[in-house]
Amino acid sequence: MLQILHSIMTEVNGARDLAATLDILVRSVQNALATRVCSVYLLDRSIGRYVLMASQGLDAAAVGRVSLAPQEGLVGLVAQRAEPVNLDNASAHPRYHYIPETREEEYESFLGVPVIHHAQVLGVLVVQQKERRKFNAEDEAFLITLSAQLAPVIALAESKGMAQGFTPSGKRNRNPYFDGVPGAPGVVIAQAITVFPPADLSVIPNRSCVDIKAEIKFFNGCLEAVRVDINELKIKIKGQLRPEERELFDAYLHMLSDSALGAEVVSLIEQGNWAQGALAQVAQAHINNFASINDDYLRERATDIKDLCSRVLYYLQEKQKKTRVYPPRCIVICEELSAAMLAEVPKGQLVGVVSAEGSAHSHVAILARAMGLPAVMGVANFPFAELDGHEVILDGHNGRVYTDPTDEMRQRFQEIVREEVQLTEELESIKELPCETLDGHRVQLWVNTGLLTDVLRSRERGAEGIGLFRTEVPFMLRESFPTETEQTAIYRDQLEAFHPKMVTMRTLDIGGDKPLSYFPIKEDNPFLGWRGIRVSMDHPELFLSQVRAMLRASVGFNNLQILLPMISQVGEIDTSTMLIRRAQRELFEEGHAVQMPPIGVMIEVPAMAWQVAEIVKRSDFVSVGSNDLTQYMLAVDRNNPRVTNLFSNLHPAVLRVMNKIAEEVTAAGKKLSICGEMAGNPAASVLLMAMGFDILSMNATNLLKVKAMIRDITLAQAKALLVQALQQEDTEAVVSLLDRELHGVGLDRLRREVREGQD
Ligand code: PEP
Ligand code: MG
Repeated sequence: MLQILHSIMTEVNGARDLAATLDILVRSVQNALATRVCSVYLLDRSIGRYVLMASQGLDAAAVGRVSLAPQEGLVGLVAQRAEPVNLDNASAHPRYHYIPETREEEYESFLGVPVIHHAQVLGVLVVQQKERRKFNAEDEAFLITLSAQLAPVIALAESKGMAQGFTPSGKRNRNPYFDGVPGAPGVVIAQAITVFPPADLSVIPNRSCVDIKAEIKFFNGCLEAVRVDINELKIKIKGQLRPEERELFDAYLHMLSDSALGAEVVSLIEQGNWAQGALAQVAQAHINNFASINDDYLRERATDIKDLCSRVLYYLQEKQKKTRVYPPRCIVICEELSAAMLAEVPKGQLVGVVSAEGSAHSHVAILARAMGLPAVMGVANFPFAELDGHEVILDGHNGRVYTDPTDEMRQRFQEIVREEVQLTEELESIKELPCETLDGHRVQLWVNTGLLTDVLRSRERGAEGIGLFRTEVPFMLRESFPTETEQTAIYRDQLEAFHPKMVTMRTLDIGGDKPLSYFPIKEDNPFLGWRGIRVSMDHPELFLSQVRAMLRASVGFNNLQILLPMISQVGEIDTSTMLIRRAQRELFEEGHAVQMPPIGVMIEVPAMAWQVAEIVKRSDFVSVGSNDLTQYMLAVDRNNPRVTNLFSNLHPAVLRVMNKIAEEVTAAGKKLSICGEMAGNPAASVLLMAMGFDILSMNATNLLKVKAMIRDITLAQAKALLVQALQQEDTEAVVSLLDRELHGVGLDRLRREVREGQD
């Protein structure tokens, strides 16, 4: 069964569109199960019916014309129950519904399984037999397994059709949209540009090329560059190779020759495709062919082709990157957003981002927020490759992306954009005012930064310090570790820009969803693995060069404090402090007038909430990382869009732990701050203030919204609200409590004023 499934899926994956996918499917299943009929019905949401999309066995004329409502027929029953239905006497079933066009009266046995993707029934896969017999358990298991594997392929093919303005059954779809999760607030309307991860053949779309001759020349140049690389590699490792391995290198070189793969690609370019698309098409066809062969050795050759073509693609992309022209306002759309992609678009031209992967709590979403870019994350089946150059409306508040909007739709959103601009102007008016409650309690609002642009925006917004400089961000934008001198320059910029206000620099927090391309970490559970301080403890040389750079950068400013991430053992604090002291001593001896900065500890691993006493003894201040604390407390991967609905720092258990930490840190007389995204949520900021947090550190975008909230409430009100919030039983109850009690306060009040002003 596995072999059959594998070969069906390989064929299906190579299909060019939805119709081709479904045709392959019904043909292969009919064959595999030796049934008379195999059909597939898909739900067309625009008409609310299951449309017969492909069939082997039923009258071909019925395909695309016959459809069933969810309450109609056995197909509707499978969809309604979201379970298989297996019958040996279908016509006797009360839900049997005869459709004359299909001429299915002769088929008595019926097995239908739902095609389910992300908990939604996309359609129903049906096999039918003439004679009265139940399909056996093996047939059922086969169909269920196939359907589960097919669901994402069908969903993606449907989305691609939708991007071209069609529903699954080919009806015109005005205002197509795709849902994800809100990543960063704001609405923007602009042209989409697709950004690909380097050298990934599977995501390259076809695109027409303007100058065919130049494109062929460009492709041949890249091909030659790979040939040179392989020849060099062959020479370099000559002595270590056995003769048969040397032959493999010759085979690679042959594959790359003008008469083999190269010729096929050139022929597709001649037909008008651009080089990347032509290469991806040729590569995919060969990979599929090899992968479907029932022979281990030949199947392995698929990997060789993939590797070779990826090398050529890398050159095509690198050389093209230099000449790419970006529109003056563009929205980056991609499969998985990375920090490097954010930096790829020239300054001032990037206005929003959409990522098919990731969630609101992913580090890149946090970075987008810090840069003030509206973002939508985790858009399942987002056909980003098809949407390059299309006009897009990005609604970062609701996590929705509209493509090729109609005039009415565009106008509607332009109105929202205008309202937002007005609101921002309203907020600007409180920029210079203190963050103080109505009864005179003062809270400090600091910012989280990663890039120098954040620093400049933060200062404009009236931030009172930097509560978290994520030092790994500049590391992520490079191709090798920065030297101590390079780091010193980066850190000095931050310290200088904020001087005399304090700047909290966190030591390198890589791992998890923050990889460095030049320091790959491969783990099954990266968030539970080698992350943050753990890497620093194993690489004291990296840690030392980083803290030396921080200390050198602070000479003359003395506004540095150092923060340690991912602490889960007190020993990590001791060792880090010892290394920082050593760096300070050595620098002093080298003639630099460096002072020992305050050292803070992040509480983001739940266990540390029970060791506050040990932490405060060893540190000058504590900063709660509510993003990771929530992820670890709730066992919800912050980066996984599937479970993003379960991630909430307003969960009562999270609130209770935060409250406990706050009580103990403040009782010890140490400064307490929070630098997770929770601080930037105006409603949550009220609770944090009531718990006793002295400093709320957040993305610059939300700073004035939080200030508007705190200036509109008393500390006494906030404390009463906290008492109630801590008693709630689940997140929903906390959220509705806050909605109810903070109705018309802060930003909510300003928003109302803006709306009323427009009437
Ligand atoms: C946190 O975990 O809350 C935090 C601030 O660190 P990061 O988001 O960078 O992991
Ligand atoms: Mg963290």
